[in-house]
Amino acid sequence: MFLDQTYLFTPGPTPIPNKINAAMARPMIGHRSPDFSVLIEDVATRLEPIFGTKHPVMILTSSGTSALEAAVVNTIHEGDHAIVIVAGSFGDRLATIAENYGASVHRLNVEWGKSCTPEMLEAFIDELGDTPIKAVFGTFNETSTGVLNPIHALGQVVKTKTDALFIVDGVSCIGAVPVDMENDHVDILVTSSQKALMLPPGLAFAAFSDRGLQAIRECPERRFYLDLKRYVDTYEKQKSTPFTPAVSLIQGAQAVCDMIEEEGWENVIKRHLLLRDMLRAGIRELGLPLLTSEEDASPTVTAVKPEGIAAPAIQKALKKDFAITIAGGQKDLKGKIFRIGHMGYCTPFDVLKVLSALEMTLAKFGQAPHFGAAVKKAEEVYVKNV
Ligand SMILES: *Cc1c(COP(=O)(O)O)cnc(C)c1O
Repeated sequence: MFLDQTYLFTPGPTPIPNKINAAMARPMIGHRSPDFSVLIEDVATRLEPIFGTKHPVMILTSSGTSALEAAVVNTIHEGDHAIVIVAGSFGDRLATIAENYGASVHRLNVEWGKSCTPEMLEAFIDELGDTPIKAVFGTFNETSTGVLNPIHALGQVVKTKTDALFIVDGVSCIGAVPVDMENDHVDILVTSSQKALMLPPGLAFAAFSDRGLQAIRECPERRFYLDLKRYVDTYEKQKSTPFTPAVSLIQGAQAVCDMIEEEGWENVIKRHLLLRDMLRAGIRELGLPLLTSEEDASPTVTAVKPEGIAAPAIQKALKKDFAITIAGGQKDLKGKIFRIGHMGYCTPFDVLKVLSALEMTLAKFGQAPHFGAAVKKAEEVYVKNV
């Protein structure tokens, strides 16, 4: 068929709107020029409501993991105690980074596919007794399982039970879910460009609460490229970045702000909930088990654990027959699940496409569904909500 008609449903990277591609094709500007200062100030401040922060959002030229590493290296001193919530492979990555920098890491292991409840965190903190905890690290949206953790409730526990900083990996949901850093007691919140922010890979973002900003300003650790204080200082003094940034991607980020403002931030949030609800209703209609409960379900990525047909076989067939790319499972869930990303540049009609392709794919594997049944269910959810 048409080689250029492809459908990307991975939980990062995500499709890029034409408007953003066009913005990224604008003429190059120098990162020490007044033009760049205008650009970065515009982007850093217009991103504030999306991160729920009062402070300009810092932009690094590197992937999301660099912002996780920056969050660790700008707060943790060797030997510090840290709690890391591990409910999937990204929580595991956070714990590994903290361990690599010499933190004494206490892993709060949560069954993969479930969220970390405030009660679990509270009990875990109680168990640690008088251990001084420097920071609690958590994943906002565990991309490997499709679980959205209750960040507000977890932040309350961190605040009431400890003096620790609360540091959150928001990579696969910032730009799709609401957050209020002061009210949720999140001190550092990071994400990257290629997920809900509709950009190509290449940028990482870090936002701060008042307390988070103070922590990185006072951090005595040795660091260089990932020195967040340098980013803040250079922004404040010169409205620039310490090192040459991916200027084109930042031009794209300005178009992201335009698009989110045009749609309305509240509507962006609602759209993601609708995409989740439509997809889950359709998947259920196909008789495919969902990995997560309703309460834990992520608005940006949905994990499915098929029975009778191997998940990778479904993934392969969607690619081969319909040019649809979805994701498989990671680590413990490898080969057992498939994941559909529905974040950023994704519409209700996109959900119908993937459900329709799934109906035909299941039929191909002999699990004959009622053709159109999943699409119908999703359409009913759509009509009820729009
Ligand atoms: C994608 C993702 C990352 C990793 O980001 P990279 O840009 O690949 O470094 C980290 N955390 C979560 C939750 C993610 O979904």
